[in-house]
Amino acid sequence: MWNKYSTIIPHIAVDSGVIGTVANWAAANGYINILAVSDPNTHRVAGEYVVKSLKAAGITVRECRYTADEPVPDEQAVGHLTAAYTPDIDLILGIGSGTINDICTFVGVRVGCPSAIVGTAPSMDGYASLGSAMLLGGIKVTPATQCPVAIFCDIDILGDAPMLLAAAGLGDMLGKITALADWRLAHILVGESMPDDIVAIVEDALAKIKAGAFHLAERDPAVIKSITEGLILSGIAMSLYKDSRPASGTEHHLAHFWEMRMLAEDRKPALHGIKVGLATVAGLIMWKELAGYAREPFQKEKQPSYADYKSNILRLYGSSVEAILQTKNPVLSIDHINANLQAIMDIANSLPSPEEIAAMLNAVGAPVRPAEIGLNEETLCDSIIYARDRKKTYTLLQLLGDLGYLEDFAERVRQYFVNTALTGVRCFVLDMDGTVYLSDRVFPYTKRFLKHLKATGRDHIFYTNNSSQNAVHYINKLQRMGIPLTPDKLLMSTHVLLDHLQTCHYKRVFIAGTDALRSDFEAAGYIHTDNDPDFAVLGFDTDIDYRRLTVLCDFVRAGLPYYGVHIDYNCPVENGFIPDCGSLAAAVTASTGITPEFFGKPSGHTLRYIIKKTGYREDELCFVGDRLYTDIAIAAGTQARSVLVLSGETKRSDLCGSAFIPDIVVEDLTELMMYVQP
Ligand SMILES: [Mg+2]
Ligand SMILES: [Zn+2]
Repeated sequence: MWNKYSTIIPHIAVDSGVIGTVANWAAANGYINILAVSDPNTHRVAGEYVVKSLKAAGITVRECRYTADEPVPDEQAVGHLTAAYTPDIDLILGIGSGTINDICTFVGVRVGCPSAIVGTAPSMDGYASLGSAMLLGGIKVTPATQCPVAIFCDIDILGDAPMLLAAAGLGDMLGKITALADWRLAHILVGESMPDDIVAIVEDALAKIKAGAFHLAERDPAVIKSITEGLILSGIAMSLYKDSRPASGTEHHLAHFWEMRMLAEDRKPALHGIKVGLATVAGLIMWKELAGYAREPFQKEKQPSYADYKSNILRLYGSSVEAILQTKNPVLSIDHINANLQAIMDIANSLPSPEEIAAMLNAVGAPVRPAEIGLNEETLCDSIIYARDRKKTYTLLQLLGDLGYLEDFAERVRQYFVNTALTGVRCFVLDMDGTVYLSDRVFPYTKRFLKHLKATGRDHIFYTNNSSQNAVHYINKLQRMGIPLTPDKLLMSTHVLLDHLQTCHYKRVFIAGTDALRSDFEAAGYIHTDNDPDFAVLGFDTDIDYRRLTVLCDFVRAGLPYYGVHIDYNCPVENGFIPDCGSLAAAVTASTGITPEFFGKPSGHTLRYIIKKTGYREDELCFVGDRLYTDIAIAAGTQARSVLVLSGETKRSDLCGSAFIPDIVVEDLTELMMYVQP
């Protein structure tokens, strides 16, 4: 199937076992001096083998190995490879996907050396692409580079790649749906060429992907192969068109914008294809909203003033502001747009729904909610309003811009995600202090909220990190507040730790904690002692004294296994805060240099424990709480949802710049009721 593209890429091999053919191919093509480029993971899964086999074939190999697990395609990475290159090298051989591929083609074209790629994951469509996705001067750019002279994708290796990488490949490919829609739009409105043969390549590639999407999670080799073929084909389409147009539109504009903003805020962005997948859902939401205009012609809305626009571009693009302001996009007249209204609606009506594509992503565990990738509402809205200015390409975003609809559509997309955030939730995990009560006062709406959950068929449990008291205390406390509950409805950090310890076969424990914590451990069969214990536990020790702290530090320094019940730094009380378990642990760390393994929220131990105890799946759970770094953080990067209530310690302004993004923010449980419908 690849022969017809041999003028673009002379050799493409996608099959099981093709890694064994790399050395023969290199020797047959006369390469004698190869620079092999990898990172720690790709070296392990493929690089080591490839280098050995090349050497065995009598080829000189030098290595350029990145030390970071996920190198960033920036000036530093370029410098690293350029420094490793010498003019006697006749081939740069990238071993990896994503960044490794981009850097190799980018540097290859600049030093005048051909490059080839041994893929390690079906994670992106850049293998055959003529452009490298780079981050230069802090801005996402796609400079034209060169096609590799060979692509090797060994299905055995790609099939073993982490599912998240395959999910990214799926996301990048599903992005072709909105990319093709944008291309059609540009064809209609600005007369951009749309050669049938290139469109057919992308459509074929997309069809392969959609057919396999629901079977990708099973790692069926046939599906991995067809996804990989789809990714390579869409790169070929871009190379044939000499532009990324066939494979990149609104969704890539949004995804690149998110990446840029997250890097500017020193936060780690999700993989390219993961962002593109979510951005495709966002794009489809906008198309669906646009379809609502079918009956009457568009009315042009007022555009923001240039001064406003400029100050926002400055805020979002920093030092690259001049380049952005010079990207003059054509502004189409309302008459011209309305003359093509039917054709625009035909595109909108031909597209799948956002729900359909979200279901495909969900099937492989790919994020479908902004909070899941740490994307806050502000950046989501900014991306819709300002991402188009980075590039001179006519897309749906340009159309909405020409119509003056961007702000309105940004709000519609935001609303869509908020309204669908709790779909499928069957059990709410309620934090206690700051959420259902404050100290000793139950909130007036708590009982009504619990009734509402029951009436709408939702389950709930209470969960607290606070290890200064035990379960009996909390059950009694809730009962006094008029909230009767059985012990299985009250889980706490101490239980998570005790559950974990069952696998450790310890008997003797030293505990820095309250009497309540000690009695929980004794009830579980442990002997509390400061004479030769097997392990040490630090809880929210409200009775701690200097002697106990010293003994704990001695044990920790001596290398005893050491567990922190929960990470909270402060505990809210009526008139402020008191230092909590995390603060005590910080004192021990200062003395010993050792940090405990923490349990409680937000540790993965707690999430797994709740799943085990309740029997609900991860994506059926919703954490509700008042604290970002515990209640919200536990859901970050998982399929569990999170709701921040502002009735406790977090203020709305704390959300700005927070690494932990809730799915929904509400004043209190009363407001949350609106989002929980039968
Ligand atoms: Mg709380
Ligand atoms: Zn892409």
